[in-house]
Amino acid sequence: MTPAEAAKPTNTKDMNTETSPTELAAVPLLACPFCGGEASGTGIIKYSKNHEAWWKDGTRIIEAHFCACMKCGVTNKGLVGHQTPALAVNHWNTRSEANVSDQATASTRLNQHDK
Ligand SMILES: [Zn+2]
Repeated sequence: MTPAEAAKPTNTKDMNTETSPTELAAVPLLACPFCGGEASGTGIIKYSKNHEAWWKDGTRIIEAHFCACMKCGVTNKGLVGHQTPALAVNHWNTRSEANVSDQATASTRLNQHDK
């Protein structure tokens, strides 16, 4: 950090950096990687305020977002879901490209565990 940066006031009115709805709409949601059906990026999981889980940045997981296929019902919730709708959409789109199945990964793990 340069002295100039250190001298900057840190409590300017720059706290309004939350993700805006318009920003979310800019992210295209790809079709379902399994059946090609239309996907929805509005899935939300609500946890209790005492939920013992935290995001990587240390905030408690109260709400998690995920995408779901409206045709076959597959979701990309994973273990807890995603911190923001944008992250959920990014994850869904990445999986669409890679064509990786959560179910396949899970059964591979089980098989390895059986040995
Ligand atoms: Zn589907």
